[in-house]
Amino acid sequence: MKSSIPIDKAAILKRYKPIDAHTHKGIQGHALLVGGSYGKIGAMTLSSKACLKTGCGLVTVFIPRCGYEILQTANPEVMVLTDVQEKYISNIEFNFMPNAIGIGPGIGQELETQNALHEFLTNDKRLLVIDADALNILSQNAAWISLLPDKTILTPHPKELERLIGKWNSNTEKFEKTVAFSKLHHVIIVMKGAPTFIIDGETIYENSTGNAALATAGTGDVLTGMITSLLAQSYEPIDAAILGVYLHGLTADIALHKTGYQSFIASDVISNIGKAFL
Ligand code: AMP
Ligand code: MG
Repeated sequence: MKSSIPIDKAAILKRYKPIDAHTHKGIQGHALLVGGSYGKIGAMTLSSKACLKTGCGLVTVFIPRCGYEILQTANPEVMVLTDVQEKYISNIEFNFMPNAIGIGPGIGQELETQNALHEFLTNDKRLLVIDADALNILSQNAAWISLLPDKTILTPHPKELERLIGKWNSNTEKFEKTVAFSKLHHVIIVMKGAPTFIIDGETIYENSTGNAALATAGTGDVLTGMITSLLAQSYEPIDAAILGVYLHGLTADIALHKTGYQSFIASDVISNIGKAFL
């Protein structure tokens, strides 16, 4: 495997942009998160809260109708748009100009959802983060990958990565295939794991934060919200991916002495984002 660039505190401080005292919510970026389905609205509740807590000024979610009251009640700071369908997304429609879009947490793989994703990717070329079942839909419809705008950030866990690039026989081959995929499609791949690597063409970054406490439901959905937030705040896509992964891991390192490995849950990532920034 090609040698990787370590992402430590010094590397982060070079990329981090302090908040301007004169900023306002309109300047801080407006993120759109698309996802959720019946029984998986929690993924969007977590993702959108993490998105706000990572600093963007405004967050809108696009979810199936069944999630409307849940989202509005759980996250009063988040704006909610709903699909015409009750239980899943069938047509991604919104009436504003988001600075970045994250798609996938809890979205499911209904055929209508797949068609909605295809329609969206054909017509919208904004900065994008793709996660979870939106990745799995792309894996099943490989031709659609060419629709992704350059520097789209993909955030697969190991199984999602395997569906995307095919099986590997060794760690070296895993990296070779991921680098080749990143180069071919001009996308950034957040290869989630312990540790997480961020791959941008030939360049491989290795994150230094995080621990096994993160091996729990919803932490990936939270990461998607965090990276989308940074993208909406005008961070370059590679910096949004690196900074998001680093802060996400750091929350687990900060919380460990209180929660131990067993009691840490995805909401603990969210409640420690502030400390991670500080
Ligand atoms: P997901 O599987 O999509 O929910 O994502 C899980 C998140 O938790 C990713 O950011 C992983 O890198 C992280 N994670 C899971 N297990 C571990 C582990 N054992 N050590 C460090 N990070 C982990
Ligand atoms: Mg996930």
